[in-house]
Amino acid sequence: MNNKICPVCSSTNLEDCFPDYSGTCIASNFKTVENASLKIKICTECGLIFNSKGIRAEGSNFYLKEKFKPRAALTFFNKSKKVSRTELNFKKLNELVDLNTKRSLLELGAGKGDFLKYFCSKINDWEINALEPNMGQRDLLSINEISKVYQTPYNELDLLPKKFDLIISFSVIEHVNNPLDFLQWQAKHLAEGGTIFIEVPNFSMIPGDFFCIDHLTKMTKYSLENLAIRAGLTIENIVEDKVPLYAALKKDPTKKINTNPYAQNLKIINKNTEICSSFFDSFTDMYLKKNSESKYAIFGCSTLGRMTPKYCNVPLSDIACYIDEDSSHQEKDVFGIPIYNRSAIKKLGITDVFIAVSPLYIDAVIAKLSEENVNLHYPKLS
Ligand SMILES: [Zn+2]
Repeated sequence: MNNKICPVCSSTNLEDCFPDYSGTCIASNFKTVENASLKIKICTECGLIFNSKGIRAEGSNFYLKEKFKPRAALTFFNKSKKVSRTELNFKKLNELVDLNTKRSLLELGAGKGDFLKYFCSKINDWEINALEPNMGQRDLLSINEISKVYQTPYNELDLLPKKFDLIISFSVIEHVNNPLDFLQWQAKHLAEGGTIFIEVPNFSMIPGDFFCIDHLTKMTKYSLENLAIRAGLTIENIVEDKVPLYAALKKDPTKKINTNPYAQNLKIINKNTEICSSFFDSFTDMYLKKNSESKYAIFGCSTLGRMTPKYCNVPLSDIACYIDEDSSHQEKDVFGIPIYNRSAIKKLGITDVFIAVSPLYIDAVIAKLSEENVNLHYPKLS
């Protein structure tokens, strides 16, 4: 595939963005991908922010590998209690879409069927369909409530004989090579009066998403609005809920003029570039002051936390451990560096902790760690 053209509008007017990087990268399931390349670009004609390299050439084959087998849904946090991602997705769907007027559903990228099972436990008498080219389909086949499982990528399926009242996808559109084609396919399969419901990680809230190798589109609210118009859809409802962005779309036969979200998206790129660079500068500063007593830990196993020592070219043997209190990280190490909880600071005699968490949470982590007898390092963000 030609990586010099925009996958949505075929323009060759592309601008390079941060970071021009090759080496170890992180996938959306936090698995390591070696010898990968990031060539993030913004299209000046349609505003799309995309990785022209990454796993684009591999396409959906990337997800057929054993290590990308769908896992159980991750835990998500809100202020007071733990809420599973499935519960949160259902809650938002129920808030933004009138489910009383609909009866058939297709989930694209249904994984192991966690969402569909939850949906059927709340709502009865719907016709449930699932599409999942990945290994999760084995689990889907055993769920009684699902009447049909399509086992190929959406773009290898011809026009299906039926249309659906509701087509949903959670964290899928950012993975496909052409997000416009993905929406157009859905528009074709949407029944009259039907709704497309999408959840996507909101790039404007996740600076570290620059480094996520299989998020081929860095999706923003502005891009989604533009793609919707191009696909003959309109956005009925859109909610930015910290990291996830939720949108309900419906068909719109009126011809709208395409907007170009280039300027808004460029602002987001510049802000995220500044944030990532501040994190890396702060980490390098800490490392330059290294002495014989120094013992380093990195707080946070997000993509940013994982990429920091790699991007800054610091030997991994100089990091004693990662610290993370989010139980959704099911593995025990990052690049062979163990992940421990906070008590490791005292036990291992850590002298310096680098805080690598989203700017949304940084103040809370600083407050928590200030009880520990360590030097804290983090960027001063404006
Ligand atoms: Zn374009």
